[in-house]
Amino acid sequence: MEIKIKNLIRTYYQSDKTVEAVKNVSLNIPSNTVYGIIGKSGAGKSTLVRLISLLEKPDSGEVYFNDKRVDNLDKKEMINQHRQMGMIFQNFNLLSSRTAAKNIAYPLEICKTPKDEINKRVKELLELVGLSDRANAPISTLSGGQKQRIAIARALANKPEILFCDEATSALDPQTTRSILQLIRDIQKKMNLTVVMITHQMEVVRDACDRVAVLNDGAVVEEGTVADIFSNPKSETTKDFLSHLNPIADEEDSSDDGIVRWSEHGGKYTLRFIDEKTGEPVISTVSKKFDVTFNIRAGGIQHLPQKDIGTLIVDINGPDAEVEKAIEYIKTLGVNVEITGGKA
Ligand code: ADP
Repeated sequence: MEIKIKNLIRTYYQSDKTVEAVKNVSLNIPSNTVYGIIGKSGAGKSTLVRLISLLEKPDSGEVYFNDKRVDNLDKKEMINQHRQMGMIFQNFNLLSSRTAAKNIAYPLEICKTPKDEINKRVKELLELVGLSDRANAPISTLSGGQKQRIAIARALANKPEILFCDEATSALDPQTTRSILQLIRDIQKKMNLTVVMITHQMEVVRDACDRVAVLNDGAVVEEGTVADIFSNPKSETTKDFLSHLNPIADEEDSSDDGIVRWSEHGGKYTLRFIDEKTGEPVISTVSKKFDVTFNIRAGGIQHLPQKDIGTLIVDINGPDAEVEKAIEYIKTLGVNVEITGGKA
């Protein structure tokens, strides 16, 4: 299911002020993708997702599912449309009085699905999320990751075409987060779903999403494929998110995936490489060709599902004119160079 939103605006009137939570946002979310919407707290993510999932009406603007306008449906049509969407949340929202299997059965019971069909579907869904052995477990006996798996199974019970994930992994540890994101990716492919993933974590975008929109203060400041955004970020908001990605060596699991810092000083330049262009040959070629030397301050590789993006934070020393020429040359090699302005 392709989702298009056009010029969405939503303003809230709080007691002492007016908040423009979503300011004229337009997006095309292609079918069959995992689409990230990233923003800091208060950026307007939850509001935007309530508008896209038709839980709330915009002040103005339009929402289309496969070219059909859906923001102005009557009540009956709206209920039908809601059945084509599944949703999972940070706090799982499971019914604690029911077992794992009965939670998955719940939306099917509401739709008055025949009992034997429910049983069959619940069994399939438990298998899909790898929890067949916990069917009769009370919710309180499940781990956070298992609860989210049950919530995913429940969200998929009515075979929706769209799955909304609202900070779905924010309450989970990094390892469990990775396994849940992998599960969502696998399910997306298996069921040809359109997944809309709301997050404040760039790790989630890196590990799960195909495309991403970066939201700041109610507006989209950047949109594109995850590889493009990681290798060539344009907005300050995006650069800021990337600079906080697994920042440093004192984080236990940063060694294989994150950025390792060799120096306390930040470097003045951030170089971003895609795939096979690794940093080392570029740096040795450039320091031979120009009268410059490099100090590597930090570096690492981000493994995206389709590509690797290398990052090096460096100082480039030498006469100004040579440094400038060196940077121009590096850019011609297809490496993105940003001035980060760290202390030399
Ligand atoms: P995010 O999900 O990115 O943290 P939200 O969409 O929750 O952002 O909030 C965006 C802004 O809109 C915030 O300033 C918030 O206070 C305001 N807001 C969100 N929902 C409401 C509401 N129901 N009533 C009043 N203000 C709201």
